[in-house]
Amino acid sequence: MTLFRRQDKLDNAATRWYDQYYNKSLNEWMYGKNKKEIYNNLKVLKKPVKASDVDAIIGNSSWTEHKCQTCDTTKEALIFLEGKYFNGYDGPNFLICKECLEKSLNIIKD
Ligand SMILES: [Zn+2]
Repeated sequence: MTLFRRQDKLDNAATRWYDQYYNKSLNEWMYGKNKKEIYNNLKVLKKPVKASDVDAIIGNSSWTEHKCQTCDTTKEALIFLEGKYFNGYDGPNFLICKECLEKSLNIIKD
């Protein structure tokens, strides 16, 4: 179980973009010419980075969404539940918010 904060995700957007699109062994940007330009725009954002700024640079909200997979709501804090390797398969991983965890605790109490 790991705590994932949206603000950390936003503050690390440039680093995450670099890790995703820069191939260190080939020493080049992958998947199109605009990846380096986007990185250069992301890395100059001042912390705390705003989601709207990242969305504007990238052109969509796929890098800033931080949704609970139970209630489908964007939250500042989510718990990452990692499924265990079982019977030859990776277990399911899951992001869940505090409110959904509390609801589930009330169910299991009874
Ligand atoms: Zn939830």
